[in-house]
Amino acid sequence: MTQEELFKSLIAHAKEYGFIFPSSEIYDGLSAVYDYGQLGAELKNNIKRYWWDSMVRLNENIVGIDSAIFMHPKIWEASGHVGAFNDPLIDNKDSKKRYRADVLLEDHIAKIEEKIEKEVEKGKKKFGDSFDEAQFRATNPNVLRNKEKAAEITSKMNEALNSGDLEAVRQLIIDCEIVCPISGSRNWTEVRQFNLMFSTQMGSVSEDANVIYLRPETAQGIFVNFLNVQKTGRMKIPFGIAQIGKAFRNEIVARQFIFRMREFEQMEMQFFVRPGEEMKWYEHWKAQRLAWHKALGLGDEKYRFHNHEKLAHYANAAADIEFLFPFGFKELEGIHSRTDFDLSQHQKFSGRKLQYFDPETNESYVPYVVETSIGLDRTFLAVYSTAYCEEKLENGEERVVLKLPAILAPVKVAVLPLVKKDMLPEKAREIMNDLKYDFNCQYDEKDSIGKRYRRQDAIGTPFCITIDHQTLEDNCVTIRDRDTMQQERIPVEKVRGIVEERVSFRKVLEKI
Ligand code: ATP
Repeated sequence: MTQEELFKSLIAHAKEYGFIFPSSEIYDGLSAVYDYGQLGAELKNNIKRYWWDSMVRLNENIVGIDSAIFMHPKIWEASGHVGAFNDPLIDNKDSKKRYRADVLLEDHIAKIEEKIEKEVEKGKKKFGDSFDEAQFRATNPNVLRNKEKAAEITSKMNEALNSGDLEAVRQLIIDCEIVCPISGSRNWTEVRQFNLMFSTQMGSVSEDANVIYLRPETAQGIFVNFLNVQKTGRMKIPFGIAQIGKAFRNEIVARQFIFRMREFEQMEMQFFVRPGEEMKWYEHWKAQRLAWHKALGLGDEKYRFHNHEKLAHYANAAADIEFLFPFGFKELEGIHSRTDFDLSQHQKFSGRKLQYFDPETNESYVPYVVETSIGLDRTFLAVYSTAYCEEKLENGEERVVLKLPAILAPVKVAVLPLVKKDMLPEKAREIMNDLKYDFNCQYDEKDSIGKRYRRQDAIGTPFCITIDHQTLEDNCVTIRDRDTMQQERIPVEKVRGIVEERVSFRKVLEKI
């Protein structure tokens, strides 16, 4: 199966089992908007809990808030979003399709990099054990030529984007002979800037109505509450404010399922530090965040850092944590050193002082900020796509299993009476009624036990418990493990301990 086919299957699976539905589906959907179903909502809540607990519970100097989506419109002028939250857009005149000019170029660069990797693979095959990869990369003429080409395009692209020279961006697309994937032509329009914020109106009478924006990031809700939280929480620098919430961006090209949506959720933390100490904290949070990801156990090799060369208007250092999605390495989280840009701008635009008096240095200053910003939906996609697995079993059967990290699994235990009679359902209900206070459980008595196991595998339930006639006599049940499919007979009283051991947040949090 190709990666593309795999991606299609896992999207279909997400719908079939109630994880994710296209929004407004009975009206043929709404582009790049999705709804989380009954299991998706559970999985999402578990991811939120893992993030929130790691930030707010485990760090005494981090607190969490929940600010409004609607904010005073001046906030977005101060933050620079009204003026500069743009993407360069280009249309193909033949297909009438719209693209992000920078993404066209980035994809082109990625293709050149792919060629390099293919050349290396060829070398590996040709030379076998005697292959010296480092030397090959440093000397092979094809590799060197492509490396140079990729570097040249990257540097020209960054220069054009950084200086806002849209004509140069267009020229580069033409020089690289990039064609529209739909029409195959190079008949491109001018490149234009497109603001990504959604706007609407607030007020009962249209003449008095104010244009307001749906927030494109949750961070500003933290900045404008900086003093409220600092004073009421008696917070001392360094300290952080965390928040989980919706954000909205009118993305030009929204695709790849829940990777790029127009309505999505962010988990952000702004860490306020002494000016001059931001680099130390930037490095600290880069390491911490990577450890958080790795503790989930999806595979250390699936993560890498990408340090930004083109910095946003507010940043003096920035890196992404990229994840190996089914369509390649892409940004999952951003860690940004935002300087004192945001607080200083809000001071200027609001006319209120946003300073901190540091009792240790006896000075007042506008704190510097290090931000960690992760997409909840992208984390969902990372977890879900890694967990999705089509397995061939020894007996020739196939099963689809979601090997989700147990702490994130929507259902932890399935309680299954072997048959629908002989008091087995009653006994199963009794066990379930006890377990449900500790774990999310599902009761299922329909179909053969084999079919029920498959259903639970398909939604990633770590444990199934089967109640049979013997249970009524010895109070023992069969517990089945999702991944190994091993079954073991244990006394009912032991169930809680076994499940707890596997689904405990503590164990994972301790690894960070
Ligand atoms: P990209 O370059 O992919 O557009 P970005 O650099 O604009 O992302 P940030 O502004 O740093 O993203 O936002 C922080 C995080 O929010 C991202 O790392 C990502 O996980 C998430 N995010 C941003 N835009 C979207 C979107 N349209 N859909 C889903 N998640 C998003």
